[in-house]
Amino acid sequence: MYVVEIDKIIKKPEDSIECSVCGKFKHKSNFGKIRNGSFIQTRTNCEECYNLSKEKFSKINNENRKNKSSTKYWELSRKCKELNEYMFSISVNEVIENLKKLPKEARLIITQDGYYADGKIDCEIPSCPVYPKMPYRNQI
Ligand SMILES: [Zn+2]
Repeated sequence: MYVVEIDKIIKKPEDSIECSVCGKFKHKSNFGKIRNGSFIQTRTNCEECYNLSKEKFSKINNENRKNKSSTKYWELSRKCKELNEYMFSISVNEVIENLKKLPKEARLIITQDGYYADGKIDCEIPSCPVYPKMPYRNQI
């Protein structure tokens, strides 16, 4: 999974948490303790930020907040979202290959959450693969 760390897109390091103060992704051990063999998060800021002087803590915290409200940060966040969507998508060929493994009598339920949501009007999207099955098509 991709995440935005300060001013760049990175692959989220394994078992990491984003520090609420400096905005860096650090190993979860920086945010809590291991008790009875399991991790317990005790704060949202990393060990390093936790040990900063009050002045340095405020300075870094303000810089991070300012960065997160910047246009650049929002642009990176949007790109990051697209990368993650692509990463978790599957190809049409993969879908077809998996469908072919199902028994011939298997049925596929396709949910439709477009304009057809209330089920009573024509969605007017004849290119949709489930359009021919819609009982309210061509009703307007
Ligand atoms: Zn930090």
